[in-house]
Amino acid sequence: MVMTAFLQPELVRRLSGQIDRASKVTVAAHARPDGDALGSCAALAEYLTTCRGKDTAAILPDTPPRNLRFLLPDVIPFLFHDAEPENALRRIRESDLVILLDCSGFSRTEGLEVPFRESGAGKVLIDHHLNPETEDFSLVFSTPGISSASELLYWILLEMPGMDGNPRRLPPRCAAALLSGMTTDTNNFANSVFPSTLRMASQLLEAGVDRDAILTELYQRSRENRVRAMGYLQNEGLHITPEGVAYMIATREIQDRFGLEEGETEGLVNIPLSIEQVRMSILLKEGDGQYRVSLRSKKGISAQRCAAAWFNGGGHENASGGKLLWPRDIARKEDAAAYLEMVSKEFMK
Ligand code: 5GP
Ligand code: MN
Repeated sequence: MVMTAFLQPELVRRLSGQIDRASKVTVAAHARPDGDALGSCAALAEYLTTCRGKDTAAILPDTPPRNLRFLLPDVIPFLFHDAEPENALRRIRESDLVILLDCSGFSRTEGLEVPFRESGAGKVLIDHHLNPETEDFSLVFSTPGISSASELLYWILLEMPGMDGNPRRLPPRCAAALLSGMTTDTNNFANSVFPSTLRMASQLLEAGVDRDAILTELYQRSRENRVRAMGYLQNEGLHITPEGVAYMIATREIQDRFGLEEGETEGLVNIPLSIEQVRMSILLKEGDGQYRVSLRSKKGISAQRCAAAWFNGGGHENASGGKLLWPRDIARKEDAAAYLEMVSKEFMK
């Protein structure tokens, strides 16, 4: 038995029963999917198809960035709402069970929030963020003290009927997707690493998952432009306030100049935390009428509270995200730096 303290066997039995009774199961995750969102969806979709024989599909609000597409299964449909809205919406209407992964609730699926809420399907949440929107779900697995949704899903799957806690019984692509999601969400085992995290990684390596192949896909296939843009932002674009908040603003002009694609600033926000006097790092990325905001903080500073109070967002204690809108939060997009300076003074008081 591999039961970990945070899992209730009764909940896994209920989930398994819901899967048995459903014919069309849809898995989903948050907008602008990261490795954990896509990895946990791919892993669960593989499990449901291969081990449970379900008609399975995944729906994501946005097409994943290039470096994560190796996670997409060969035959299971993954529908991206930005690319094929009609198919995605039809699939939601047809589903009898929706399992939402790696987000605190349907609000983080953005354009799909209302269709998911209005669907008559059974709804299950499997997540590791703070403040889950539990009222929308008949079954909730919510464990903030864990590395990733992929890790939580791993411990759930090992408790499923017939698994006997043996990771070798997971379909190989499922196991690889789980290790990939855990790898990106921990920033390659630098943050949010718990005893159970290393236990899972060790078990998956023993079960034959090729970690080198995963690292090659995740970290050795960048475009040159991406690395140059990261260098530019760290050199010309890095500001540090007297209170120890580092910030960078990836304006549209900079994104265009380097031809940056979605997902290519991933990881950049962590870098300023290596500076001794920096206690929190904020990255703004310009979009239409809003900046996407990424926050990372050192121990003792809550990125989550800052994201909730100042950036319409949330996430984890030391890694959060949100958005900054104009003309609502700031009058013009050019006011972003002044806003960040003000937030630094107010929040770090
Ligand atoms: P990232 O900076 O990598 O985009 O996000 C860091 C963490 O914050 C992730 O766990 C992500 O799910 C969460 N997060 C990102 N954007 C938002 C948001 O708009 N709202 C909330 N509640 N969480 C977010
Ligand atoms: Mn996650």
